[in-house]
Amino acid sequence: MSARNDLHVHSNESDGTLSPEMLIDAAASIGVSVIALCDHDTTAGVARFVRYGESRGVRALPGIELSAKWQGGNCHLLGLGVSAGCEPLEALLKKTRESRDKRNGLILEKLAKHGINISREQLQSEAGGEVVARPHIASALIKSGHASSHKEAFSAYLSRGGLAYVDRFRLEPAEAVKLLRDAGAFVVLAHPRQLSLESAELFDALAALKKAGLQGVEVYSPDTSDEQIRLYKELSTALCLTQTGGSDFHAPGHGGREIGYYRRSEPIPEIRIPELGI
Ligand SMILES: [Zn+2]
Ligand SMILES: [Zn+2]
Repeated sequence: MSARNDLHVHSNESDGTLSPEMLIDAAASIGVSVIALCDHDTTAGVARFVRYGESRGVRALPGIELSAKWQGGNCHLLGLGVSAGCEPLEALLKKTRESRDKRNGLILEKLAKHGINISREQLQSEAGGEVVARPHIASALIKSGHASSHKEAFSAYLSRGGLAYVDRFRLEPAEAVKLLRDAGAFVVLAHPRQLSLESAELFDALAALKKAGLQGVEVYSPDTSDEQIRLYKELSTALCLTQTGGSDFHAPGHGGREIGYYRRSEPIPEIRIPELGI
């Protein structure tokens, strides 16, 4: 079976490496007809993405991935079909970028105290796009020989408990859902495994998010077991939440992720969301 759709990919406007146009070309070349660009905390790439998709006969949906707080960790929410440039979402995104920039500076200061010198310029060239974030610092740490992988760079330096960890401003999940709904988006909880919840707790969490306006659950996502997929299907059916899927593609070869697939040779099943016309 070949891949038909993918509702979660990243471009070089956040921490991906391909441009929005390159993503469309890659999708078109393998027959993916519906694809959503969900960059972290920015809609900078979506207008080009949608326009170029039209010219290539690919249904390209504008989207975004917002990070919210979750019990000391993170929870990611996708806003599919989001209206770019919509206030107050844009004001929040600006605040998020500023907080992230401030954090980047503090992380670089902490690293310097440990004898690791990475300049702002180096970081910007590592990022290329609008969002400069920890994965880019991780890349710089790997290039300078201070870590052998992104995983190691995060655990040793950048994650909570790491030598150069710095927290940043994040929304409450219900606030993030509301902001996305107000910006016209269809709101989906991304990769639920991130919440590390057992079934009863996850049911309660999804029910609470649904009350806030959540509409879907990303059932098909990389690094998710068959058992987890079964659970997410069961819970989303019980709560009348739409089941979606995405590759969370960031870069060719990165994590073995491919556009249109949630696992090697496992295409994301066809997704129907009438609200988005798909
Ligand atoms: Zn995510
Ligand atoms: Zn993502």
